[in-house]
Amino acid sequence: MPQHLVIIGGGPAGNQAATTAARLGARVTLIERDVVGGAAHLWDCIPSKAMIATGGAMNEMRRAAGMGLVQVHAELDFEALRSRIVGIEKRLESSVIGLLESQGVRLLQGTGRLVGPHSVEVTGPGGETEVIEADTIVLSTGSRPRIPDWAPIDGQRVLTTRHAYPPPELPEHLVVVGSGVTGVEFVHMFSAFGSKVSLIVSRQQVLPQKDPEVAAVLEDTFIERGVRLLKGARAEGIDVTDDGVAVRCDDGRVARGSHVLLAIGSIPNSEGLGLEEVGVELDGGYVVVDHNCKSSIGHIYAAGDLSGKLPLSSVATMQGRKIAEHALGLHAGPHRHLDYEKAASAIFTDPEIADVGLVEADAFAVGRKVRVTKVPFSASAKALINDDPRGFVKIVSDPATGVVLGGSIVGRSAAELISVIALAVTAGLRVADLAESILVHPALAEALSEAAE
Ligand SMILES: Cc1cc2nc3c(=O)[nH]c(=O)nc-3n(C[C@H](O)[C@H](O)[C@H](O)COP(=O)(O)OP(=O)(O)OC[C@H]3O[C@@H](n4cnc5c(N)ncnc54)[C@H](O)[C@@H]3O)c2cc1C
Repeated sequence: MPQHLVIIGGGPAGNQAATTAARLGARVTLIERDVVGGAAHLWDCIPSKAMIATGGAMNEMRRAAGMGLVQVHAELDFEALRSRIVGIEKRLESSVIGLLESQGVRLLQGTGRLVGPHSVEVTGPGGETEVIEADTIVLSTGSRPRIPDWAPIDGQRVLTTRHAYPPPELPEHLVVVGSGVTGVEFVHMFSAFGSKVSLIVSRQQVLPQKDPEVAAVLEDTFIERGVRLLKGARAEGIDVTDDGVAVRCDDGRVARGSHVLLAIGSIPNSEGLGLEEVGVELDGGYVVVDHNCKSSIGHIYAAGDLSGKLPLSSVATMQGRKIAEHALGLHAGPHRHLDYEKAASAIFTDPEIADVGLVEADAFAVGRKVRVTKVPFSASAKALINDDPRGFVKIVSDPATGVVLGGSIVGRSAAELISVIALAVTAGLRVADLAESILVHPALAEALSEAAE
């Protein structure tokens, strides 16, 4: 009798665990209460990047004069944008469902919760219940936006990321609270659409976790586009008036706008899952997991945002795969533990920002000796051809062995280009390996091999 794996939550983590386990011979049941594809497809990665792509196209047209074009003009059709987003979501949803069904995964629509160490109860849309027995359980219920008690979220003027794809109307003046990855992506997309934008930055730098040199390029672009930065201010109250909002900050400043959007982190979807009753250890609502994503109960795993590791779709997917491999005994074979330090990540602003592995600022902070080489895109033929010489490539390597430890890229296509450094970091390649690759000319990637010289 094949092992029965029951998964609660059909986002990237759950779906990947399902397809990998099914491919490896398990009987798989996947429970999803909402949309297969998860928050990633419905509210997070996909709609945000679809809107950013539209904003990017508008920015390209603004730059058209530099390409020798005249009288290029773009206007946003909000309804067309809305149907574009829904269209992408529907296509992705049906392709994920098609893949799961083709692998023989049993899809159950409903809300799952543990009612015993090996038992999961599913409550369907009509209130009907079913209890399923499982050999292995995977918890992948994701997270949702954090809402502080001072924020009167109404989905009209006071928004979270879940109301913004797209919002009810194009904001005339959007106040964004939070200058982490999500906040700066919203600043970028709405300023590209032509909204006025103010950004409340609690520290002295946007993207406080990033290399200051990287953050500076983005701040310069925001200022150039007329974004108002309120640095060193923490929002602590929102007043909604007939025609707008006023966001009160702890230093007495007030940011006024037509709408406000909160991007101040997320909280895990762990309540109501029956975890405490079964004895699954939690920390701040996140499931405590080991390097195999196993919880305190051996046959119960957690993946994705619920595991409290890196909240990225790419990481969730990899965790789902590793869980399936581990649960089906592959860890004794060609299985490698997930190394979160080697996860590449990107911020889809204009210019894009991406990094992987050890970055210069972190090496400096821990006093580690590293070799850092930097090449600006202004020296790249392709960047000049694109009329976009902003940004740079930085590679961090071990001075003794030449092994690539990490890197950062700011500039056009940074999210794609970082894959090369990510591969080098994962495979333990040396800078010489990058420098000796004969790349395409002219291409932005040439800056990578130059930085590796
Ligand atoms: C605005 C925004 C943009 C982002 N952009 C990116 C990006 O570009 N790249 C990237 O890598 N990451 C991005 N992320 C992060 C990414 O969206 C998450 O890390 C990812 O969705 C986590 O996947 P998951 O499988 O853990 O959960 P989710 O995608 O949240 O899926 C969880 C699923 O579980 C279901 N569920 C919950 N409870 C139950 C229950 N009891 N029973 C049944 N079903 C249940 C939910 O309905 C949901 O479908 C972004 C996040 C945000 C907020």
